[in-house]
Amino acid sequence: MTTDVTEFVMSHPLFSHHDHHNSPLFFEERRAELGFRDLLGYAEADLVTAAGPQRAGCAEDATGSDRWVATHWPPIRTTGYGRAVNLACRELFGVDYEPENFSRITDALASVIEGKTAAAVYDYFVRKKANNRWVLQDGHFRPGNEAAVESEAYPDYYRFAWRMDDLLSIYDSGPIAVLEQATNQEILSLDDLVRAMNSNIDTFKAGGKLASLKVGIAYQRDLVVGDPTRHEAELVFNRIRSRKFFYDGVQQNTAAAGAREARPLADYLFHSLLKRANDDDLPVQIHTGYLAGNWGSLGGTKALHLIPLFEKYRRVRFDIFHASWPWTSELGAVAKNYPNVYPDLCWAWTMNPSESERALSEWLDGVPYNKIFGYGADTGWPWCNVGYSIQARRGIARVLEEKIAAGHFSRATAREVAAAIMLKNGEAFYGL
Ligand SMILES: [Zn+2]
Repeated sequence: MTTDVTEFVMSHPLFSHHDHHNSPLFFEERRAELGFRDLLGYAEADLVTAAGPQRAGCAEDATGSDRWVATHWPPIRTTGYGRAVNLACRELFGVDYEPENFSRITDALASVIEGKTAAAVYDYFVRKKANNRWVLQDGHFRPGNEAAVESEAYPDYYRFAWRMDDLLSIYDSGPIAVLEQATNQEILSLDDLVRAMNSNIDTFKAGGKLASLKVGIAYQRDLVVGDPTRHEAELVFNRIRSRKFFYDGVQQNTAAAGAREARPLADYLFHSLLKRANDDDLPVQIHTGYLAGNWGSLGGTKALHLIPLFEKYRRVRFDIFHASWPWTSELGAVAKNYPNVYPDLCWAWTMNPSESERALSEWLDGVPYNKIFGYGADTGWPWCNVGYSIQARRGIARVLEEKIAAGHFSRATAREVAAAIMLKNGEAFYGL
């Protein structure tokens, strides 16, 4: 049995804590070729999983071809990723995402975007169809992208997170060269490097739309962060700068070995970034848990590894992503213990809807609800937010109805919780 709380949740606006919406420029480049394949989002990875181990040259259909999608679609319709695709398709175009409808879907998408500017297209899907009130956009504020900050081309409810993962997993001079180019300053010392990082953040901050710092290094390294001395970091910096060691050095190492040896510098820079967050009271978003795609190295990604940072930077506010799935209970305990940790269900609803419900239910029993962030789509195309929003709303509604049925929450309390975790907590945290 459901109450009016379900209706309240299904029509309540959402704060998308995390998205990677392609730039309006890229949208224009792709506009003519967009089609049913672009509804898949993360489901591409489940297609690869469903296809199983493939030997080069043995596949009947080329991996990634339209026929390959049609072949491997049926067994992924049941996963969270697959269901999100179908939910969006039904909501937007009134048909199921099935091979016999693929060309219809392509035509329907084309007719929706026809004659609209990129901003109008984004607005149509994000605001009108997904009812997302705020979008926190990743990957746009980064060194080298200063000229392309056409953030004004995104709708005005977009805010941005500064990100430079290569710096926090540095093992060669690549990131140094990128920052030299971006800041137009030579980087000859460790201090110069930290200064350049901060000056690049300043550049993006000046536009008034910088909401957060983002750390996505779980894709490149484990989240075990040491606390090296300045001297230890400097030794590594000097060796990289003089190209004596590491990956691009005279003595060629493997990238992995280089990354291990360079860890004191990478960790020092992570601490430098957190000091910046502390100085400016800038929130820090950190990817924890499951990794997008296939074959990702999951072992080092759990939020538990970050405890020494939560301990040390007690005034920094951490938005901890993806429920740290599959370590959601651990993140709940961390969030209960550390007043500076905010657990975030962004992207989790589609990775695993039922585990996300279980996580939210547990967190509500352990963590004050003003600390929980209920949603982020984390998608490349704005129309994907539609399916992910439905998944999140349905999950949130079900959890709250269960709390009501068990006698733990009144309906008024459930509405209060919904409004907080869906929107208000994010607005308060990011000052919007
Ligand atoms: Zn992401």
